[in-house]
Amino acid sequence: MIPGPFDYHRPASVTDAIRLLADLGDEARPLAGGHSLLPMMKLRLATPAHLIDLHGIAGLKGIRRDGNRIIIGAMTTQAELLASADIGSSLPILHETALVIADPQVRYRGTLGGNVANGDPGNDMPALMLALDASYRLEGPNGAREVAARDFYQGAYFTALEPGEILTGISIPVPAAGHGYAYEKLKRKVGDYATAAAAVVLTMAGGKVATCVIALTNLHETPLLATDAANAVIGTALDDAALKAAAGAARAIMQPASDARGPAEYRKHVGGIMVMRALQRAASRAK
Ligand code: FAD
Repeated sequence: MIPGPFDYHRPASVTDAIRLLADLGDEARPLAGGHSLLPMMKLRLATPAHLIDLHGIAGLKGIRRDGNRIIIGAMTTQAELLASADIGSSLPILHETALVIADPQVRYRGTLGGNVANGDPGNDMPALMLALDASYRLEGPNGAREVAARDFYQGAYFTALEPGEILTGISIPVPAAGHGYAYEKLKRKVGDYATAAAAVVLTMAGGKVATCVIALTNLHETPLLATDAANAVIGTALDDAALKAAAGAARAIMQPASDARGPAEYRKHVGGIMVMRALQRAASRAK
């Protein structure tokens, strides 16, 4: 399949990109790495008449530290995240998650901004952004605003992005020193989207879980923050009963689709297992 016809635009600044989006309206879409948008266009599930390529905007790339936060430009690729020593030491779960996205070819083109702005429940980064309590900088015709990742996802392919807005950066608080982390992803084969996945960030004190956040990928039409599941393990030594309680609480909020990755009941079952595995691995890493 080949995409329908479109006009190609390559603005040199965020201001120009916003102006183009405002002028061209619904028929225009930002283009980042193209590894979600172009497959949709090839299947004619998306038929934008105008593509606004963000690659000409130098300020949208890069990773920098601002106090206790890491700020990542929207056009930073998954491969660039993997190559960053700062990400490896400060946000190791981001490194771990980028490594299980697709394959090296996709990771060289696919961007963090495109992954989180896309709104596909199968994308891995949105749940991680919920777990890390990231926020997104959105810039549009009415100025700039900051939206918490936890408020961004409204439905499959529906986000808080308003018409004419682009995501320019992702801001992530650095987790506490000594935190444990894990991203557990079940997939049918290398390069596949998640059948089910869970992100866990926790801290331990005196052999017990002191703080814990759990988020889920591809188990609902949006990424999910599994608050009850996290509360089920806080104050415990992650014994069998606590792990099972967390899996049960997580399953209670899952509503996956039945699809080629399995029927909904199977995906909920393995979703709970991903939660238990992620909790155990995160605890084993906590100092
Ligand atoms: P694009 O495809 O260019 O854009 C995606 C959407 O976001 C479009 O609607 C676009 O208009 C919008 N957009 C992009 N950037 C912005 C912005 N800055 N502001 C506002 N809107 C924007 N992803 C996973 O998470 N896990 C996987 O396992 C996985 N497997 C894959 C396997 C294959 C074979 C392929 C081809 C892709 C896979 N992907 C997977 C998707 C890949 O990670 C994409 O790169 C990613 O979802 C989108 O990022 P992108 O930069 O390519 O964005």
